[in-house]
Amino acid sequence: MNDLLRIDGSQGEGGGQILRTALALSLVTGQPFRLERIRAGRPKPGLLRQHLTAVEAAARVCGAVASGAELGSEAITFTPGAVRGGDLQCSIGTAGSATLVLQAILPALLLAREPSRVVLEGGTHNPYAPPFEFLDATLLPLLRCMRARVEARLERHGFYPAGGGRLVVDVAPVDRLTPLVLLDRGPVQVSARALVSGVPVGVANRELAAVHTQLDVPWASLEPVEVSTSPGPGNVLLITIASDAVCEVITGFGEKHVSAAAVAARACGEARAYLDAGVPVGQHLADQLLVPLVLAGGGSFRTLAPTRHTTTNAAVIGEFTGASVAMNAHDDGTCTVTVSSDGVTRA
Ligand code: AMP
Repeated sequence: MNDLLRIDGSQGEGGGQILRTALALSLVTGQPFRLERIRAGRPKPGLLRQHLTAVEAAARVCGAVASGAELGSEAITFTPGAVRGGDLQCSIGTAGSATLVLQAILPALLLAREPSRVVLEGGTHNPYAPPFEFLDATLLPLLRCMRARVEARLERHGFYPAGGGRLVVDVAPVDRLTPLVLLDRGPVQVSARALVSGVPVGVANRELAAVHTQLDVPWASLEPVEVSTSPGPGNVLLITIASDAVCEVITGFGEKHVSAAAVAARACGEARAYLDAGVPVGQHLADQLLVPLVLAGGGSFRTLAPTRHTTTNAAVIGEFTGASVAMNAHDDGTCTVTVSSDGVTRA
């Protein structure tokens, strides 16, 4: 049995990602850990429903013993057992992000012995989390390039704050992932969709008009979508930037008292920065690729200046595994990230 690894949840970015990365790596390596000062960098520290659901889901996937797994808890001790795929239902019970719960368990399920079907209920389109479209169009195709066999489908949209969305993820396991190199981007095609649920379609149209003007996207590539199946209201602008290398999805989340123009301007600004940098990997994808690359035995990608999510994730990965994450900053503000790792093979 490995010694207990102690992780400081307040380090760096100090958010839920430290917990999810620790769970994901604990499952694939068998390393038990104690995480203290969970989400100390957040206004409401400790485990919220989304984080507790991630701990419970991870515990179920490997028959772990998890102490301190309670709402509000600021420390947990997690001792994993052997990973088993299969059917898993995770209901967050709030608008907590379903795609973030998946971050904690997907790496292990990709390498499990059995196929899995995971049904996640909660938020599918939440601020500060990957929307379903990012999972489906950005992350999963890259995992499939690394030999993973994984598909996701959205059965019901769940917007913050009502939640109530549902997504289903099917995994057919492989024994090992292969490294990924994403250094160049090439020509891009930009399109956008604006989703509204219980919000006038004029909001979607105003957001798309801003994308047309600010990013010079033709009207034929812009689509307003009225979502009828969501239990609550919501509005999301999704800007898709597709190239041969990757399909980035940049998201603007509608909020009360924030105009459609402001939501669109923020998303267009993020899209413009990505387009101008000429890199394949955007800021959110960068932190989310690190764990898969560790599993695969390495890889490298070019991205924007690393966020604190990326540097913090790299630090937690370093504590958990022998992997190194090198970040080589270039004069133009971009960065090449190189992961060196022995890789993880199915236990
Ligand atoms: P945390 O703030 O620690 O809970 O981590 C949030 C996670 O959500 C990180 O992996 C971010 O990269 C990811 N994320 C946040 N916003 C977006 C977005 N708009 N698109 C894709 N991923 C996102």
